[in-house]
Amino acid sequence: MARKVLVLGEVREGSLRNVSFEALAAAKTISEGGEVVAALLGDAVSSLTNEMISYGADRVITVEDEKLKTYTTDGYKQAFMQVFESEKPEAIVMGHTAMGKDLSPRIAAKLASGLISDVTSIEEVGSEMVFTRPIYSGKAFEKKVVSDKLMFVTIRPNNIAPLEQDSSRTGDVSSISAEIKDLRTIVKEVVRKATDGVDLSEAKVIIAGGRGVKSTEGFEPLKELADVLGGAVGASRGACDADYCDYSLQIGQTGKVVTPDLYIACGISGAIQHLAGMSNSKVIVAINKDPEANIFNVADYGIVGDLFDVVPLLTKEFQNV
Ligand code: FAD
Repeated sequence: MARKVLVLGEVREGSLRNVSFEALAAAKTISEGGEVVAALLGDAVSSLTNEMISYGADRVITVEDEKLKTYTTDGYKQAFMQVFESEKPEAIVMGHTAMGKDLSPRIAAKLASGLISDVTSIEEVGSEMVFTRPIYSGKAFEKKVVSDKLMFVTIRPNNIAPLEQDSSRTGDVSSISAEIKDLRTIVKEVVRKATDGVDLSEAKVIIAGGRGVKSTEGFEPLKELADVLGGAVGASRGACDADYCDYSLQIGQTGKVVTPDLYIACGISGAIQHLAGMSNSKVIVAINKDPEANIFNVADYGIVGDLFDVVPLLTKEFQNV
């Protein structure tokens, strides 16, 4: 059944986040040959419409307003609802990002609709669209179908491959001047922590350190390896609690959920709460002194050894590739 699918593109600091293109690919599958319409909300997003079209949007609707410069629940909900009302799609797709996690349940409640969150794959089985999502902190997967008339899903970043970019694709672009009023919160200023390099949640390679790293300085060899591999540095809560690094790096049940192509865990024991945030990574390498460490149970490759010996060797090896 052909469907019209509305995708929310996610803009950060004037650029589209990768998850926007992954959402378009998901929407293409869900649409079953129907139309994929992308919504872009922000204060200046019209320069990004062609990129959305090149990744599969048939049409793009922009809502530009100074009040949408930074994300607020109220502002984005109002703007998105106005796009929804004008389009009346049969399905909605957004990223399961900090923004998507905040916005999607509110939109679902407003529409009195169901929501399948954190989807990692979508397939057509017979006449049904089947959505797979992790449960029990990633220990199992469940498959769901939608019985509601609106199919509303959020997709986990880094799981659904974007379509190949095709800059020759064309599509209509229009704008809505949404009425955004009575905001309960206004963001006056965003003060960012200085972070080096790649965004953890979108990184294809993550080098994560645990309590075995032993100090703030102990993260240096991990940063060097991350630089060589073009990756980001992450951490266990053990390392964050010990004040070796900032909590923004924490991966796990109460930290970030990541699914990079390559996850190198250094001096991390593999507690269940840590595994909840990284066990769906495509390839896991564990470096640990203790051959009995639980992390080896989820690792594709295990190196029993001292991380301060092994990590510099890896850096040297990859420098020469
Ligand atoms: P440890 O368990 O102390 O492991 C350190 C490892 O380093 C050991 O395996 C050791 O053999 C190895 N090691 C030591 N020195 C070296 C060396 N030189 N070379 C190689 N290996 C070495 N944890 C998270 O990570 N993320 C979460 O989101 C999270 N949420 C939690 C939520 C709740 C409600 C609770 C109760 C706990 C949560 N935890 C979380 C904490 C979790 O239970 C573990 O305590 C934590 O993950 C342990 O961190 P770690 O593996 O770095 O430290």
